[in-house]
Amino acid sequence: SPADVADIGVTGMAVMGSNLARNFARNGFKVAIHNRSVGKTETVMDNYASEGEFYPSESMADFVASLQKPRVAIIMVKAGKPTDAVIDELASLMEEGDIIVDAGNALFGDTRRREAALREKGLHFVGSGVSGGEEGALNGPSIMPGGTKESYDRLGPMFEKISAHVDGVPCCTHVGADGAGHFVKMVHNGIEYADMQVISEAYDMMSKALGMGASEIGDVFAEWNKGDLESFLIEITAEVLHHTDQTSGKPFVDVILDRAAQKGTGAWTVQTALDLGVPVTGIAEATFARSTSGSTPQREAARGVLKGEAQTLEIADKAQFIDDLQKALYAAKLVSYSQGFDEIAAGAKEYGWDIDLGAMARIWRGGCIIRARFLNRITEAYERDANLPLLLADAYFTEEIAKCIPAWRRIVAFAAASGYPVPVFSSTLSYYDAVRAERLPAALVQAQRDYFGAHTYQRVDTEGTFHVEWTQDR
Ligand code: NAP
Repeated sequence: SPADVADIGVTGMAVMGSNLARNFARNGFKVAIHNRSVGKTETVMDNYASEGEFYPSESMADFVASLQKPRVAIIMVKAGKPTDAVIDELASLMEEGDIIVDAGNALFGDTRRREAALREKGLHFVGSGVSGGEEGALNGPSIMPGGTKESYDRLGPMFEKISAHVDGVPCCTHVGADGAGHFVKMVHNGIEYADMQVISEAYDMMSKALGMGASEIGDVFAEWNKGDLESFLIEITAEVLHHTDQTSGKPFVDVILDRAAQKGTGAWTVQTALDLGVPVTGIAEATFARSTSGSTPQREAARGVLKGEAQTLEIADKAQFIDDLQKALYAAKLVSYSQGFDEIAAGAKEYGWDIDLGAMARIWRGGCIIRARFLNRITEAYERDANLPLLLADAYFTEEIAKCIPAWRRIVAFAAASGYPVPVFSSTLSYYDAVRAERLPAALVQAQRDYFGAHTYQRVDTEGTFHVEWTQDR
């Protein structure tokens, strides 16, 4: 390739990287492309060269040389060690002011470490969340770049151009310094876990309590997708439930093993929340629900042995029950989002990031997996009060959730009495009742801690820290 020509470069021509490169090219940017093994680069040129201006290189040195200065090189390779190896190689070839972007799914702590190391060398390192899978990378993802403001000035306009757009507004904005972008992408994925789990809990209740078939349940989700719940995940759920397995002729969902895998971003969200002391109970229960589904020896030991002693409750009004489920789903979803935004706010405070929470909801409206109509409402809530301490306490959401409460309680009570597991429906309701409670039993826990560990306690009537000499005063 000629030198100093490409607007931007992508190294890593597997599915994500090649789609991202094609997206840049289709949007009129000159794109340098590179892959460790040359075959993948050739495949892109053989199949897509006509889509735009590509500048392929076999060596990393030629790839870097082909970029206009200050250079922007995006890394889209396997997360972990491979990413570190490619960063080192790129860094050795780049010059002060150049920008290296990691668009893979990195843990934000790794991004902070890498950013600090590259800053020493005068390079900008941008950890960027990219959501939307293969399809998003090609046609417009939601992009969450961290790093310096200066680096965003250079790459932001290009990223905004190739991102998804909703009402003409790009689904990309500068999130905050160093690891902020990957942090927000992590929480996005955690929220995605919670969304998927509440949807599956509603499906499970329709299947078990109402005895509905997959296709009929699919009709319900398709209907829900016309209201407040309108979202990509509800839409694809309806499609999946309507899908018939070619081999068996059965509903597709019925021939799938009930064991959900995970690649780790849900667990990262929960681990980070524990470190920050933020209760993300919806996300945590959704993550653990996948773990429970995969606990094969435990499930085998329990099946048919552990007694249910469940009541068989009559459902007098099927339509009412389905309406209750819709409200329970919406309420549980609102709590999960509120908790996720709490985690972003806590992360921003801990790491000194200036994150505009409303803008995060705005850039999730398109391109990403949790894209949904109601995200506009979150943006509006933070526009009303940028320092909102609790999303649920915004007047709009307070009203919305109030409309759901009786239905939500009926569903959780029904599930408990009937022996159906609803970890996210029930844990989000418990959180809702806890966070709004006048008084919590934490007072007793505090007393217990003072008893056995002399951990001290505080009083409702006097300032200060107190301790009882339990063995003497008993
Ligand atoms: P991938 O399967 O994760 O990785 C394959 C690519 O990594 C190939 O280009 C491979 O090069 C390269 N690679 C592996 N080890 C390397 C090394 N030591 N040095 C240099 N290159 C190396 O690809 P992907 O599915 O396209 O995902 C890329 C990144 O995007 C990952 O971080 C992933 O977590 C993230 N992501 C993926 C999705 C998705 O839907 N797939 C969505 C969001 C984010 P060779 O061809 O030479 O082997």
